[in-house]
Amino acid sequence: MNEFTLLPGESVIKRCDEVSLKGMNLPVGKKDILILTNQYLVCIQRSILGKVKNVERYPLSDIVMTNGAPQVKLGKLNMNSTVDIYLKTGQLRIQMVWDSDAKEWVDAITEVITGVKVERKGFMDDPFLTEGFLKMADNVDKAMGKFRKAFGIKSTAQASGKCPGCGAPISGTEGETVQCPYCGTYYTF
Ligand SMILES: [Zn+2]
Repeated sequence: MNEFTLLPGESVIKRCDEVSLKGMNLPVGKKDILILTNQYLVCIQRSILGKVKNVERYPLSDIVMTNGAPQVKLGKLNMNSTVDIYLKTGQLRIQMVWDSDAKEWVDAITEVITGVKVERKGFMDDPFLTEGFLKMADNVDKAMGKFRKAFGIKSTAQASGKCPGCGAPISGTEGETVQCPYCGTYYTF
């Protein structure tokens, strides 16, 4: 049995020979194959000896879309990461040997369907780094405000903050100094 033949106009985008389609044979034995083309998700089941047992093609157009996002998600099964694909005909669950593979596959499938590159923020996934990053961005904003002020450039960007004196919410424009209406403390955005 020929394991896989491309259809006219079809091209392979991603392939992994280390998946489990039935959730049973990881990590021993010959593994199943998953292929992403520009049109289909192809699942090739193999026997323990590596012989192709079954080839199943799922059109990418069968993947359920919610608010413009294809329903392809990361999951967990028997300690392995899974790529969970919600099709109009049911759920497809593919076990991966490597967690990083699962993430890559979710992104790859999403990208083919939406045509938009998935930006995995990497460091933004880390809440501690995110906090640091936001603080840095905030400081850059503040510095820009001071810069504008120093050069007499008026900013029209709305800004809001908390009064350092009494904690009341105050708002104004970037770089502007306002007096808190409650306690009289001056605050520069
Ligand atoms: Zn105040």
